[in-house]
Amino acid sequence: MTAPTKSTWNPKRLDVRAFALAGGQLGSAEGDGQFDRLQAECAPGTDGLEPVSWHVQGEMRAQGAGKVQPWLHLEAEGALSVVCQRCLGPVKVPLVVDRWYRFVADEAAAEAEDEDSEEDVLALEPRPDLEDLLEDELLMALPLVPMHEVCPEPVVMSVADEAVSLGQDEEPRKNPFAELARLKK
Ligand SMILES: [Zn+2]
Repeated sequence: MTAPTKSTWNPKRLDVRAFALAGGQLGSAEGDGQFDRLQAECAPGTDGLEPVSWHVQGEMRAQGAGKVQPWLHLEAEGALSVVCQRCLGPVKVPLVVDRWYRFVADEAAAEAEDEDSEEDVLALEPRPDLEDLLEDELLMALPLVPMHEVCPEPVVMSVADEAVSLGQDEEPRKNPFAELARLKK
């Protein structure tokens, strides 16, 4: 068996140590995942997730006395249309990621060191899936309560119509805040 060449990185199971030693780089052109979890957050009837532009760079960094450790720097930019929590219309939110990760031998070591570290500490083994990592970060970049700065014309009527079509026409007219609470469940 021949070893894979160093230019052939597998983003689904990245050998972070080798990647960092080689000063490796990967980016959005290398083939992207579908980001299903992100797509699930998208407002219905919109374009969904815009293409995510991302880049990851590996490097070895000195960590104390003569010890070097592998690091990754992940940067990404995208945008997603989600439901505005005030007017219930779609609002496009920017997704920006700029994170550093330090890698240690295994998950136990990562867990032990993560609490005391400013950077995120991850395990070399099992090898990380960069697409999962990227999607996690993009999800965390979503605002908890997305809202327009200034909402356009209210679109509450169309939501009320939807509720009627779902067979809830027997109920008395709901106030919009109760409706919002129901939708958020
Ligand atoms: Zn709004």
